[in-house]
Amino acid sequence: MKVDFLIVGQGLAGSLLAWHLIDAHKRVLVVDLDEAVTSSKVAAGLVTPLTGFRFFLPEDLDRNLNYARRFYWGLEERSGITFYHHSRIARLFANSDEVDQWKHRMETEGNRYSPYHAPLTIDPELINAPLGGFEMREAGWLDIPAFLEYTRQSLLERAAYAIGRVEARDLKVTHAEVRWQNVTSAAVIFCEGWRGKANPYFDWVPLTPVAGDILELEIPELASETRILSKSGWLIPLGDGRFRAGSTYRRGIEGSALTPSGQEEVLGKVADIARHAPSSILSHQCAVRPTIQHSQVFMGRHGSLPGIAFFNGMGSKGVTNGPWYAHRMARHLLYGEPLPPEADLFRLYP
Ligand SMILES: Cc1cc2nc3c(=O)[nH]c(=O)nc-3n(C[C@H](O)[C@H](O)[C@H](O)COP(=O)(O)OP(=O)(O)OC[C@H]3O[C@@H](n4cnc5c(N)ncnc54)[C@H](O)[C@@H]3O)c2cc1C
Repeated sequence: MKVDFLIVGQGLAGSLLAWHLIDAHKRVLVVDLDEAVTSSKVAAGLVTPLTGFRFFLPEDLDRNLNYARRFYWGLEERSGITFYHHSRIARLFANSDEVDQWKHRMETEGNRYSPYHAPLTIDPELINAPLGGFEMREAGWLDIPAFLEYTRQSLLERAAYAIGRVEARDLKVTHAEVRWQNVTSAAVIFCEGWRGKANPYFDWVPLTPVAGDILELEIPELASETRILSKSGWLIPLGDGRFRAGSTYRRGIEGSALTPSGQEEVLGKVADIARHAPSSILSHQCAVRPTIQHSQVFMGRHGSLPGIAFFNGMGSKGVTNGPWYAHRMARHLLYGEPLPPEADLFRLYP
């Protein structure tokens, strides 16, 4: 079998890259382990324009977010499935430092921030926000499992998907092509998520696994809430009083390590937001985010083996930033266009 590109991993990264190469009329094969629990399958998929306790608004947010929404909406039109849920975030201040940070942002960068916030109204009987907060606009969440499943089906229809493990040591690499089993390809792109840490071609990349827990739970008293609620944790409404709640950040943990402490930590964050305790916990999942530096995507070809490439490190901003970087990676692979300097893998080369 001869393909233009062999993509290793069908998480968010591999799926985004596959769509961009398919739309450029290239033949791809995506090989995936088909694990039940992965970062992409567990992730909340939140798009949060103002991040962290400093309410940071990245310079490239407009570019990345506009590109991402156009990309997801385009796929929705093709498929008839809704993947992207536009929603406001009720951002509740967690402490007086956050109140001060927000005041400072408004005083010094009020114009730049104005498209991204609105006044907050809450019912204090239901929501715990003694310090107030604001409503974050232009936010939302991607149903990543639905997006992955639609991508998988679309790949299967093109005979472009296989379940399997591509090990670096099983590749036969020459300057002209790469062979894996009976597949010949011009290039192999590793989109392995946190497992990329063990890839001998790229083991010098400082990929840090960061485990995170997510619960699905019921809070019937909050059934009419349609906004995402966020403080140091968050609650995403799914309808009928069901919510996804998260999350934890445990650096250096590999694999999905479900622990009672992970569940308790999330429940603590929920208790800090909602006045009513969950009536039931429907599920608890834990997966590992592939994080490099500040959730910056890193990508590029291997220095001495140009047929081997890497696309990874989306961290907590994969849904927002992934599509634009996949577009740039595809153009790099197809036409040799330079990579965005901040994402160029060789900035990290030792
Ligand atoms: C709890 C939690 C909450 C999160 N919340 C958000 C959020 O709100 N917003 C956001 O944007 N992001 C969030 N993320 C991060 C998001 O999940 C990641 O940015 C993104 O999904 C990572 O995608 P990926 O394709 O790089 O990695 P993965 O999802 O890990 O996918 C890698 C794929 O490659 C496969 N694979 C690995 N090695 C091989 C191999 N050798 N051969 C074949 N297949 C292989 C794996 O099985 C997997 O399917 C969250 C993550 C977690 C865990």
